[in-house]
Amino acid sequence: MNYLKEKDKPSQKVYRECIEALCDWCESNDISVNLFSSSHGYDPDTHEITLHHGSAGTWLHIVTLIHEIGHAVQPNSAFHSLRKSVKRDKAIIIEMEYTAWQCGWDVVKSIGINTSDLWYHYSRAWMTYWSAYIQHVYVQEQHEVYSSIYIERPGYTDYP
Ligand SMILES: [Zn+2]
Repeated sequence: MNYLKEKDKPSQKVYRECIEALCDWCESNDISVNLFSSSHGYDPDTHEITLHHGSAGTWLHIVTLIHEIGHAVQPNSAFHSLRKSVKRDKAIIIEMEYTAWQCGWDVVKSIGINTSDLWYHYSRAWMTYWSAYIQHVYVQEQHEVYSSIYIERPGYTDYP
């Protein structure tokens, strides 16, 4: 989670252009965005993306918005219809976290703001947070309660 502490900032111009383009895309897709919340996440019931105010102005704020957009547009899990089991649920969490990053970047490409700078920060966060999820799900078993919430409400997460 070192990435979170690193307040790596784009220029104000780049920051504004990225945030505006992404928020415009959300507005035309009926997704509301709260840029200054107390947590990160996407709520599939209200179609609202929230971003933590602490990362405002940084690459992380942009990157997290893209990831949460990915949760908003990602398809159902490939394992969704399989018999419920701990193994399946864990696989779904890891899969959904990965595809959210993938789907988010697809939206970035469709908007046309896919610069090499943005990709540098995005791919780095993707690797960092997805690796952290694997740790949480397969190493730290105490996250089972959290995982059951995720299965019931795919797309919703307190993590980016
Ligand atoms: Zn996520």
